[in-house]
Amino acid sequence: MAAISPSATVSTDAKAKALRAAGEPVIGFGAGEPDFPTPAHIVEAAVRACRDRRDHRYSPTPGLPELREAVAVKTRRDSGLEVTPQQVIVTAGGKHAVYNALLTLLDPGDEAILPAPYWPSYPEPVALVGARTVVVQTDVTSGFRVTLEQLEAARTPRTKLLIFCSPSNPTGSVYPPAEVEAIGDWAASHGIWVLTDEIYEHLTYDDHRHVSLPVVAPAAAERCVIINGVAKTFAMTGWRIGWIIAPQPVATAAAALQSHQTSNVCNIAQRAALAAVSGPLDAVVEMRSHFDRRRRTMHGLLSQIPGVACPVPQGAFYAFPSLAGVLERSVAGRKLGSSLELADLLLSEAKVAVVAGEAFGAPGYARLSFALADDDLAEGVGRIVDFLS
Ligand code: GLU
Repeated sequence: MAAISPSATVSTDAKAKALRAAGEPVIGFGAGEPDFPTPAHIVEAAVRACRDRRDHRYSPTPGLPELREAVAVKTRRDSGLEVTPQQVIVTAGGKHAVYNALLTLLDPGDEAILPAPYWPSYPEPVALVGARTVVVQTDVTSGFRVTLEQLEAARTPRTKLLIFCSPSNPTGSVYPPAEVEAIGDWAASHGIWVLTDEIYEHLTYDDHRHVSLPVVAPAAAERCVIINGVAKTFAMTGWRIGWIIAPQPVATAAAALQSHQTSNVCNIAQRAALAAVSGPLDAVVEMRSHFDRRRRTMHGLLSQIPGVACPVPQGAFYAFPSLAGVLERSVAGRKLGSSLELADLLLSEAKVAVVAGEAFGAPGYARLSFALADDDLAEGVGRIVDFLS
């Protein structure tokens, strides 16, 4: 456990929510959490499930058969990938899916390549297994996208797995299809597994589009594990439903692991997820249009701050500005040491919660979610502007 740190995204969000509950006017850019309610037809499905005695009982560990089937159908619809329901393991959120997939695939001494900036909950399960995360640094000059040369330089005989996330949390970058294909082919040619996190698949903007790695690089499919879930697409963060899609032996092993942890995930939430994945995407299209507007607002406001350089987010709902120019100068009469220190000051002085780049393996940056109400967004960035000037 000494190798594990608490999640900075979760703790930033918890701090902001606790301060707000205590009456402080905190604006939270911390967690990636849509501010919209879960669509009504999904909530209704859960209400019906609450009244159905069958849902009061244990159900199969890998998920309700109807939900596994619906996820397979949805995967064909949205990604063009053929999978069987038996390859789908329903988990308590995307994070649980990542954790169980990594525990299933990695052995002590294995290496997992992880492009930075990365979501903080990828390296910790790797450490828990006794495997090693090999971080490959990307920055704004490459659009925060890893190159084949970088991957090749990081590869050793111990490389077991690549962790890949597009659209990216935290950077908002989206890999073009040709780059996804090249990365998949590279992994396949070296027998390297890919864990591809597709949780932001529906949240892309302008001409950027998500493509599923095993679809554009079919050679990688036999060593590919997909992570997905309903949280971001359907504003269902609190319902905790994610899933793994894996080659059958991995799916079977992950289900065996889960049979000793959670058994089945909450049936009520699974019924809600079933309504979500088998229903229309209208609400998603609507929410995405709001995120798109907020994205432009946030990018515009942040870009006006002297010393802040903010790439235009292409997907997900995060802006990931470089604060290098701010950290060089003094604020409120003192020189800032790091983005971590700036994030602390923003919370205590300006009552604005952002997640410091350190959490994502990228000191000097910060992540700001734009999945919050337009007024809060403008007020929060306004406070940052005031504080920094
Ligand atoms: N995935 C979201 C985020 O990155 C929620 C918090 C978490 O679980 O890390 O903000």
